[in-house]
Amino acid sequence: MSTTDFFCPNCKTHLGTRFSISKKITDIGPAVIQCPSCSLQIKTNSKEWVEFNFLEKTRLWFEVYFYYAVLIGPVFAYTSHYLLKEKLLVNDASSAIVGFAVYLSVVLLVHFRHVAQVKASLDRTSIAQQ
Ligand SMILES: [Zn+2]
Repeated sequence: MSTTDFFCPNCKTHLGTRFSISKKITDIGPAVIQCPSCSLQIKTNSKEWVEFNFLEKTRLWFEVYFYYAVLIGPVFAYTSHYLLKEKLLVNDASSAIVGFAVYLSVVLLVHFRHVAQVKASLDRTSIAQQ
């Protein structure tokens, strides 16, 4: 996992930052975007949701849940639990509840962000077909 910054190859305008192992600006999105600064058409290697086959869709969902629910969520949860318990001397049960709430927030946030990405992609594709 690392962050990757994306720049326009022509005018070097910053196009976005991504925290992922993926080297695409976004997995789900238009294949070509336009630089907001110089209007250059830039290939993204992204695809719209309807262009993903079943396996690719499954893989994307798996990645979303695997990274956040299995790898990142527990780290956030444990860190908040630890900080509350050791640094603020909150009792074990309360800090465990907060830890779980943090975990749930991370997973739900990622879940809804992914759902929103899919929905935005479907909206773009249905507009394009009209
Ligand atoms: Zn540009």
